[in-house]
Amino acid sequence: MGLIVQKYGGSSVADAEAMKRVASRIVATKKAGHSVVVVVSAMGDTTDELIDLANQITPLPAGRELDMLLTAGERISMALLAMAIKNLGFEALSFTGSQAGVITDSKHGRARIIDVSPGRIQEALNQDAIAIVAGFQGISQDTKDVTTLGRGGSDTTAVALAAALEADVCEIYTDVDGVFSADPRIVPTARKLKSVTYEEMLELAASGAKVLHLRCVEYARRFNLPIHVRSSFSNLEGTWVVADQPEGGNMEQAIISGIAHDKSEAKVTIVGVPDRSGVAARIFQSIADADINIDMIVQNVSAAATGLTDISFTLPRTEGSKATGIVQKLQGEIGFQSIQYDDQIGKLSLIGAGMRSHPGVTATFFAAMADAEVNIEMISTSEIRISIVCRQADLKRAVKAAHSAFELDADQVEAVVYGGSGR
Ligand code: ADP
Ligand code: ASP
Ligand code: MG
Repeated sequence: MGLIVQKYGGSSVADAEAMKRVASRIVATKKAGHSVVVVVSAMGDTTDELIDLANQITPLPAGRELDMLLTAGERISMALLAMAIKNLGFEALSFTGSQAGVITDSKHGRARIIDVSPGRIQEALNQDAIAIVAGFQGISQDTKDVTTLGRGGSDTTAVALAAALEADVCEIYTDVDGVFSADPRIVPTARKLKSVTYEEMLELAASGAKVLHLRCVEYARRFNLPIHVRSSFSNLEGTWVVADQPEGGNMEQAIISGIAHDKSEAKVTIVGVPDRSGVAARIFQSIADADINIDMIVQNVSAAATGLTDISFTLPRTEGSKATGIVQKLQGEIGFQSIQYDDQIGKLSLIGAGMRSHPGVTATFFAAMADAEVNIEMISTSEIRISIVCRQADLKRAVKAAHSAFELDADQVEAVVYGGSGR
């Protein structure tokens, strides 16, 4: 007997039937004697549809109003799920993020949780009810406005609540059976990981493996809270995200645990930049002042004849036009030649703690890219990750080639995708 926080993603509650199926899973957990808190996402592709709708009104909706709109998606789910549970004869109460005590900063569209005071959730549990919480949303401490935590943020709501309530485990229910060695939608032979460390999962999530929201992994690591990622469509054991790899637990100590890919970035190249101190600082300070996060940066060696160099960087595509606008304004002051913008890039990342102690990973990786005729445009590394940028059209082929090169393919196909549109 303990406290379990369960999170159901959009594909798990896509329609009324799915909602009822999830309700009976929740009731089964309750019947087994546990206290249950459920975090739920908007149904199916509701969030995308609401964004499309807003964009039909205006290309740049005000952050406050967009958050008001998007949080409605999770609100629909929480109420329907509470009804479905009551229908099964169990007490359930739904709560918005604000009612659940999820307090955030005031950055609309990507608010950070700064405190969780789940008094009402605790009360509901004390009354033996199942508490249903709308994911992905909170309330700003300063403005008291409704905020959202960024796409995929319901995972973070779940882990933050689990930490605040001192739950035994946070279960993330999704449309695949766990965390795989690559996205099962791209590599059907991907292998399910029995467990993965917080450290590796952080790199996977930061590199585009959207099965878990990056912040939720940061949160879980900080509170040493185990996450169990599993499917709501099967009863299979999923993947445990934990502090340390259990002895002999996973994939015979593979060098590479997983491959992530990301199609959401764009590349900006500033051509003919005078190679003198202070220039890079000026450019990147202006971008930082606009609150834009950049990912990779490459600066070429300057040509001896001209003393000019090129600087390229990648960033979320959604920030592309803002960033090029900012750089453009600096042209007079810095005196570079031109700006190029490329939104047809893809990023592939190899992640594995085993990399630390195995030389030759880069050589194997690059040879695989060469065999697959994938041109590498940019490279960046961390202790346990190597990322490359290539053409977006080559990305799928690159992921498959890297997956085979590191012998990650499962012996038998186990990567089932149960639902979701992959949007
Ligand atoms: P949910 O709506 O349940 O939050 P998401 O779409 O956010 O689901 O995340 C699940 C999806 O993540 C899967 O359908 C899969 O396509 C994708 N994914 C990407 N990388 C991985 C990976 N390494 N392992 C499992 N799933 C992955
Ligand atoms: N509904 C939100 C989204 O689609 C949050 C989530 O599902 O985690 O991004
Ligand atoms: Mg998700």
